[in-house]
Amino acid sequence: MPMVWGSNPPVDPRFPEARPPVLILLDPDAGPQQRATVRDQLLRLDVTTDEVVVGARHGLVVTGGTKRPADSLARIPGVAQVVPLAEAQTRVAATLADGPRTVQLGNARFGGGHVSLIAGPCTVEDADVLRQVARAVRDAGAVALRGGVFKVRTSPSSYQGGGRKALDDLSATARELGLPFFTELTDPRQVAEVGELVDGVQIGSRHMQNFPLLVEAARLGKPILLKRHMAASAGEWLDAAEYVLREGNEQVVLCERGVKSSHRHVRNMLDVGVVPWLKQRMGLPVVVDPSHAAGDHRLVPALARAAITAGADGLLVEVHPCPETTSCDAAQALPPEVFAQLAADVRQLVAMDGRTLCEPADTPVNGSARPAARDAGGEPSAASSALES
Ligand code: PEP
Ligand code: MN
Repeated sequence: MPMVWGSNPPVDPRFPEARPPVLILLDPDAGPQQRATVRDQLLRLDVTTDEVVVGARHGLVVTGGTKRPADSLARIPGVAQVVPLAEAQTRVAATLADGPRTVQLGNARFGGGHVSLIAGPCTVEDADVLRQVARAVRDAGAVALRGGVFKVRTSPSSYQGGGRKALDDLSATARELGLPFFTELTDPRQVAEVGELVDGVQIGSRHMQNFPLLVEAARLGKPILLKRHMAASAGEWLDAAEYVLREGNEQVVLCERGVKSSHRHVRNMLDVGVVPWLKQRMGLPVVVDPSHAAGDHRLVPALARAAITAGADGLLVEVHPCPETTSCDAAQALPPEVFAQLAADVRQLVAMDGRTLCEPADTPVNGSARPAARDAGGEPSAASSALES
C-alpha cells in the first residue's frame, strides 16, 4: 500500500478550488510506460502535472484539481508516495522516499543510524591551541573538527576571525590528525577563493537565508551543515535546504542551534522537538549544536544528551582548553575533559538506540595514532565525502 505522507494540508476557505500542490513519487521501478499511465490517470482529475526527477526517482508535482484527496492519489497503481507540498520543498520532502540519508566525510557519518561528533573551538586563533584542542577532541571520539575563520559578529567592533591564515592552520591541523573539518563561509566570493580547501561548509545561523551563498556553496558539491536561523520557522529552514538540493547537492546536514526567545536563562531556546518533527518529514540528517543554544558550558552536556535522545544524528560542540584566552564564545566552551565525558555518555545513549557512534581512524594519514582504541567502533570509510541513502 503506498504511503500517504501526513494529511492533506487544509484548503484555504477563500479559494476552495486552490488545493496545495502535492509531489507524487513513483515506484522506483516505474518505467516510461507506467509513468505515462499514471499521468493519464491524473489528467482525468483535471490537474496539472510537472515531471521532476529526484535522485534516481521519478515524480510528478500535481497542482490544481478539485477532487484529489491524497489517499485516492496514493491508490493509483505505480504511485509509491504522496507528499503534500504546502511549502514547496519538493526536493527536501522527496528525500524521505528512499529512507534516511547518510552524509559522510572521512570517518564521520550522519544519519541512517550513524551518529558523529564534530568539535573544536568557536574560532581559530593560536595554531598551537588549535592543535591541542583538535587532539583532545579526536582522542575523545570526535570524527570531524570545527573552527570559525570568517566570524559573523553582531558588532563590527568584535573580533572578525583569523581569515585565510586561520583557514590554513585549520586545514593543516585537520590533515595532520586525519580529521575532516567544517568551517563557516559567509560570502559567495569566499566559496570561489577558498572553497576547494574546506571539507564541509558550515552555513551559519545569520546566513541561513543568504541565498546566493547557499547556491554557491551547494555548487562545491561538498557537505553543507545548514544551521537554522535563530528566528526561522522550521518551514523556512527547509526552504533554505531546498535551495541547496535544487543545485544538485543532496549532502545537507541540518543543524538546530536554538531560537531566540524572551527568556534569559539560556542564550537561545533549543528546539529539541524539531528533531523528530524533521525526521518525519524528510530523510536528511539532523544534528544539534548545544553550545550556541546554552551559551553556558555548564548547560551544554544536558542539552547535548537531550538532543541525542531525541534522535539527533550528531552534535556540533565548542571546546576550548583555555577559554579565558579566546575572543569568541568563551562562556559556552567545554573544557576538553568535559567533552570526553560527554562523548562517553553519547556512546552509551546511541548504543541504547541501536545506533552507532562513528569513531576516528586509529592511524591518521600524517599524524600520531590515537592513544586508545575503543569498543563501539564506526565502520571504516573512504576519505572522500559521499552520500548514500
Ligand atoms: C558558530 O558556530 O560559531 C556560530 C557563529 O554559530 P551560529 O551561526 O549558530 O550563531
Ligand atoms: Mn561560536
